[in-house]
Amino acid sequence: MNNLKEDVVIVGAGPIGLLLGCWLRKLGVSVRILEKRMTCSTQSKATSMNAYSLTILHALGLYDTFEAAGKRVQDLHLYWQQKRLMRVNYRRLSSKYNHILCLEQPKTEALLESHFLAAGGRLDRGVEVIRLQEDAETVRVYACHHETSREECLTTNYVVGCDGGKSKIREQLGFLFPGRNHGSGFIMVDATISWSDDLSSVHYFVSDDAFLILIPLSGNKHRLIIRTPNNENEKVNGDKLAVYQNLVKQYGPLDLTLHDIIWESKTTYYNRLSDHYGQGRVWLAGDACHLFSSIGGLGMNTGFQDALGLAWRLAGLLKGRFHETVLESYELERRALVQQLIGRTNEMTAMITRVNRDPVALRDWLPIMANRDRLATILPLHFSGLSQRYEKGLLVESSESLIGQLIPYFALTDQEIYLSSYDFIDGSYFYLLHGDTLSDETFWPHYKKWIKPIQFQADDWQQVTRSLGLQTDEAVLIRPDGIVAAKATIQNTRKTFFPILKQIIKE
Ligand SMILES: Cc1cc2nc3c(=O)[nH]c(=O)nc-3n(C[C@H](O)[C@H](O)[C@H](O)COP(=O)(O)OP(=O)(O)OC[C@H]3O[C@@H](n4cnc5c(N)ncnc54)[C@H](O)[C@@H]3O)c2cc1C
Repeated sequence: MNNLKEDVVIVGAGPIGLLLGCWLRKLGVSVRILEKRMTCSTQSKATSMNAYSLTILHALGLYDTFEAAGKRVQDLHLYWQQKRLMRVNYRRLSSKYNHILCLEQPKTEALLESHFLAAGGRLDRGVEVIRLQEDAETVRVYACHHETSREECLTTNYVVGCDGGKSKIREQLGFLFPGRNHGSGFIMVDATISWSDDLSSVHYFVSDDAFLILIPLSGNKHRLIIRTPNNENEKVNGDKLAVYQNLVKQYGPLDLTLHDIIWESKTTYYNRLSDHYGQGRVWLAGDACHLFSSIGGLGMNTGFQDALGLAWRLAGLLKGRFHETVLESYELERRALVQQLIGRTNEMTAMITRVNRDPVALRDWLPIMANRDRLATILPLHFSGLSQRYEKGLLVESSESLIGQLIPYFALTDQEIYLSSYDFIDGSYFYLLHGDTLSDETFWPHYKKWIKPIQFQADDWQQVTRSLGLQTDEAVLIRPDGIVAAKATIQNTRKTFFPILKQIIKE
């Protein structure tokens, strides 16, 4: 690698650029973030972090800090035509974090920024990236300092565009950003409220032609998301409090009172996906490569996974341990997964907005009694991100059982070093978990540096195999991002794991 000032330049200090910066610092990579805004964002936007995102924060050692700032939510109450229909319970999720954590986006960004700076990262505000120039060895980043109008050229090994939906970096790469605008919108309001019912849960009031969602935020604030039959014409000038209070009366609980309006936004339903996630030395993450209608709460949560997915690959490349193909696998698996999520979000959005009135398509999703048990299981899995699976590919051996998914949570009490399954999400090593002695030839001396074999004692191994759905004579390979990559009988570990590792790890 070249001897440059920073290994990686990140464009954009939104939540994804900052999280990527934190991960790269944890993995010993030097990083500089360039951000055109002089100050932090004040836009409330993303409010809810799902179990997958919380696991990513845990692996950075940040979960407790976030929990202290946010609000834990374990129940979601669903109402149909104003009548309480069901409670969706997150407690049964196979995660240490069987809840949603609600926190306004500026607070998420502030916590990530202070961690990034404390970890030795550099953040330059008021610096706008204008263009890039890439050659075989480096990338030159041309940026303008807003205060002085000075232009600067930095040279770095890799650039990551975390510069949002209107990404300059995506434009520089010449990628297309096709998608769908559903042609209708909804209103978001952050407010202080009073209500006699449970203020610590999420409440979904759905009716035939409208919905109102109530989400707790930090302090005594709540987010209201409102879709009315004629949202586009809803007048929200003048006495906003009265307008929103009236909407609550019509579509939410009658006895809920709004006090102060803190933030509001009117936004439309849309979904977009870039035709590529990067090439050579320039890559994208977050809204720069995918946009989700904010109604599904997937935008920031999906970007969090991009950040981890890119961090371990870039760190390994910069340390000289991986082939460049590792970045191809980032595009292949992340893009395919987001394509699926967008497909599902499009269906749900069409249903919610009533673009799709096809009774067959709607049948399984309507919040009616017949769907109660199905929705109670599916919704937490869907919203938590834990049902997401990478398809069989470069770094995933099959589509069987847990393979391609995030390792489920298990904790071991009476062994010496590893306390929980989340300790394997360290961004650095592949872990080979097994309960029996591996033959010596299984480990090729040159791979030993990047793979840690962990042999469990019999009792612990029982628990591990139960949690992972393995036979006791099987071993399992976990990637640095906690994804279960492959399983094999103890005799076949070399035959099964070697082809996966050979594709990315340098000998
Ligand atoms: C109203 C609303 C509600 C939402 N609710 C949710 C939710 O509940 N859950 C959820 O998961 N998601 C939600 N989202 C989506 C979420 O806000 C985004 O997915 C998230 O902000 C994406 O983060 P990012 O870092 O990729 O991009 P951004 O947050 O857009 O950050 C990009 C940064 O790059 C900077 N930048 C841009 N161009 C340049 C340049 N040329 N040079 C230097 N800097 C540059 C920008 O100033 C900005 O700071 C919501 C979005 C909206 C609009």
